[in-house]
Amino acid sequence: MMITHFSHHHPLSPYQVELDHHDHHQKHDDQDHDHDHDHDDQITICSGCELELISGSSAYKCNKPGCDFRLHELCSELPRESRHPSHPQHPLTLLFTPHYSFTCKACAGSGTAFIYSCTACRFDLHVSCIALAESVRRVDHEHPLELVFSSKEEECCGICGCSFVEGCWAYLCRGCGSYGTHLECATSEEEEEKELLVGSGENEEERGIPGSR
Ligand SMILES: [Zn+2]
Ligand SMILES: [Zn+2]
Ligand SMILES: [Zn+2]
Ligand SMILES: [Zn+2]
Ligand SMILES: [Zn+2]
Ligand SMILES: [Zn+2]
Repeated sequence: MMITHFSHHHPLSPYQVELDHHDHHQKHDDQDHDHDHDHDDQITICSGCELELISGSSAYKCNKPGCDFRLHELCSELPRESRHPSHPQHPLTLLFTPHYSFTCKACAGSGTAFIYSCTACRFDLHVSCIALAESVRRVDHEHPLELVFSSKEEECCGICGCSFVEGCWAYLCRGCGSYGTHLECATSEEEEEKELLVGSGENEEERGIPGSR
């Protein structure tokens, strides 16, 4: 069944993402390239969240020849308006082509696709950042790490050793008090990260800890 999505002026059709080879997601044969995907055309990117479309998942693509617009099924269902505890004072609106170059308040990254924005405050979040789990567990740390909405530059990421960007989000351990990680480092080994788009991270239990089976 074709759908029309407010972010795109052509109709979209559902399809099943299939990448015939180059899909080493489960395997990790070559450690060095762990999550540094080769950007060949086997990899398709969601036009909404700018993340990879994983083989076997459901997605939508544009029917128009030559148009490469695609959306994760979940991205096609993102609500037009959302609220987030990091900006409790205003609702955030889903914008699909920001007219300005935005900086995500969570990760300090930029982007060209969907964002949740409070235009009054110029408060912008990637759709993937707004969906970050409130806490994560890592095999290499004994406590769960909690999402905090501001980090201090003088503290360093416990995984990569680099400092935080002042004011950006991070995962911190309340147990240790001093252990924290960058957002992307906390989830760097967890391919299931994309599933977080589903909700607010309530199903961490199911998210399996890599290497602990
Ligand atoms: Zn997406
Ligand atoms: Zn199109
Ligand atoms: Zn972000
Ligand atoms: Zn605001
Ligand atoms: Zn890091
Ligand atoms: Zn700890």
